[in-house]
Order: sequence, then C-alpha cells, then structure tokens
Amino acid sequence: MSIVRKEGFGFSFDPDKCVVCGGKCCTGSEGYIFVKIDEILDIAQMLGMEFEEFSSKFVRKVGYRFSFLEKPCSDGVACVFYHQGKCSIYAKRPKQCRDFPFWEGYKLENLSPEDFAILQQECIGVRCESE
Ligand code: SF4
Repeated sequence: MSIVRKEGFGFSFDPDKCVVCGGKCCTGSEGYIFVKIDEILDIAQMLGMEFEEFSSKFVRKVGYRFSFLEKPCSDGVACVFYHQGKCSIYAKRPKQCRDFPFWEGYKLENLSPEDFAILQQECIGVRCESE
C-alpha cells in the first residue's frame, strides 16, 4: 500500500505498518469507539447476529451516540473486537477506525509537538512530513 497524506495534516501515514504494529490504536486507555447505526447493522449481519443481540453484547450508549464496549488487556483496555493483535471485524470496522490517524484533533492546527510525540508512540505508521 502507498503512503497516505491528507490536506490539513502535518504527517503522512504508512498503512503497511499496521501489519507489524499489533493494533496499538485498538488498545490503551479507556475511550470511545464510536459506531453508527448503519455500521452496527452491517457488522451484525457479517457476524450473523440480530441487531438487538449484537447491541446488547458489544455496544453501549454514550449520550446520543453509540460506542463499542472495551475489555481489560495488558495495556489497559482493548476494543471488544480486538483479538490476538488484530481487529476481528476489520473489513467492516467503523469509520472512526478507518479514518485513524487522520482525526480532527490531529490536524496541524490542533496538534502540539507533545501530542504528536504521543501519536507517534501509538502509531508507528505516522511520520512527520518535514522529516
Ligand atoms: S473495531 Fe477493530 S479497528 Fe476499531 S478499535 Fe475495535 S478492534 Fe480496533
């Protein structure tokens, strides 16, 4: 795969690094893995589950939004779909996951050098464009 660059971001991303990373963006401290209703429907269908069963097992409500549950792991917590270093629903993972690391909070105007250093620790595929 080729290096990804997006307007407004001061870094590039090498998706090939995901193979060796072991899924650091799916583990760590507690957070939100936001998922939309149509994505839930799609993932439930892929797993051969009804929407209600899937939601009660894997999803929690956060205000007016929905997030995947997390489970304890050696790094803190992991997404409920993180198994043996990989996303078990990779083909249908939510947009939030597909967009990483190009999140609004990581745009050039929002990202301090300290936060960029933390992002690089979390994602070995991220490289500063001025390097
Ligand atoms: S859905 Fe997959 S890619 Fe997204 S956080 Fe969970 S394990 Fe990671």
